[in-house]
Amino acid sequence: MSELALFGGPKAITKDPGDLFKWPIITKEDEDAVLDVLRSGSMSGTDVTREFEKEFAAWQGLDLALGFSTGTAAIQSAMFGCKVGVGDEIICPTVTYWASGLQAFTLGATVVFANVDPDTLCIDPNDIEHRIGPRTKAIVVVHYTGHPADMDPIMAIAKKHGIKVIEDVSHAHGGLYKGKMVGTFGDVAAMSLMSGKSLAIGEAGILATNDREIYERAIAFGHYSRYRAEDMETESLKAHAGLPMGGYKYRMHQMSSAVGRVQLRHYNDRMLEIRKGMNYFWDLLEGVPGIKAHRVDEKTGSTMGGWYAPKGLYKSEELGGLSVTRFCEAVRAEGFDGCSPGCNLALHTHSLFQTLDVYGHGKPTRIANADRDVRELDKTLAPSEEIGAKSYSIPWFKHFEPEKIEEYAKAFKKVAMNYKELLKDDPGNPAEIGGWHFFQHSPKK
Ligand SMILES: *Cc1c(COP(=O)(O)O)cnc(C)c1O
Repeated sequence: MSELALFGGPKAITKDPGDLFKWPIITKEDEDAVLDVLRSGSMSGTDVTREFEKEFAAWQGLDLALGFSTGTAAIQSAMFGCKVGVGDEIICPTVTYWASGLQAFTLGATVVFANVDPDTLCIDPNDIEHRIGPRTKAIVVVHYTGHPADMDPIMAIAKKHGIKVIEDVSHAHGGLYKGKMVGTFGDVAAMSLMSGKSLAIGEAGILATNDREIYERAIAFGHYSRYRAEDMETESLKAHAGLPMGGYKYRMHQMSSAVGRVQLRHYNDRMLEIRKGMNYFWDLLEGVPGIKAHRVDEKTGSTMGGWYAPKGLYKSEELGGLSVTRFCEAVRAEGFDGCSPGCNLALHTHSLFQTLDVYGHGKPTRIANADRDVRELDKTLAPSEEIGAKSYSIPWFKHFEPEKIEEYAKAFKKVAMNYKELLKDDPGNPAEIGGWHFFQHSPKK
């Protein structure tokens, strides 16, 4: 009989996961903090949010932070803060969640996509410079699923061309690049804090920066009650205070801010435990053919933060050409439901970035205000379209429970070692592997 559970063998995973995947970790401390806000009736105030902003800025190692209703809003406001406007371009990796770049459309700007590096899954520093045009205002960097992007060459390119860098830290809160926290390299960091992310506080986002003008422009854009002439140091912003320039209202819900204050206090400890669990999993799989860790060499001083929605890299050629689709099917049969092939689909392949006229310009929004047809630059993005076939989700352990983690590692190893049995009925990969919004809170039970 086959060893593989897919063919009737015993499952590798037999233990009840318990709270191994449960996130966020909520205790009485969170509950009390929320009830305080609820009972005081200050859900729409800013007092708790301002405390959270101060604490967050200190933790992030930056001077200023501004809370938002979502990460999407924080990133859009970071773009506005960097003066991305009509006819301008931003450069963004094509493999990411859409809210790293799509908001540019709302500013009359457009997106130029860059390839991701197949090992880091972050923007490839060697694929940026030839995409810069006269209207390029900013590079958005995403530290994808916890992996820090290669910031040294990216910052050098930005400096050389006088363009801003926006770090989308939604996947990597607290991660380090060569010993320094991600989010502190660029001109501004903006990120999601929604409840699926590593730093999970409810439905919320935040922006952090050392640049007073970016911060004040972000206030002016979507925070009418904080947009007061006497608080603005930026001269050009003083005259129009009172109403939000963007016509948006982006205030953070104070129940989220209250959870945020509690979560932040425990985050470093919880991150350490995740790190221990995740590294243990990958250490057990070192040298197994076909599968490769998506992680950093910690000897360089880099870390993976909270390991948001972690991925593995897939080497089909080491497994006789077995498709990642078939591979994942076999891992799921071993008892890990969360093993899905792929990651975020390459954004440039979506019709919204090719043909759709969102705002009635009479032409696709992507090129509505652009000086050049930036879609031409998509032709060199084929390597990123293949990333789906080279990646899959792995368990996101929130606790270091070696015996349970060993079972999950065993599931992956068993499938890789018995790959030959899977070749026979391999249906191959579908045309699209992954999803437009691809994230898993935790495996289904
Ligand atoms: C989640 C996410 C966002 C958007 O954050 P929301 O809080 O969901 O609006 C932006 N960028 C990336 C990379 C994300 O994963």
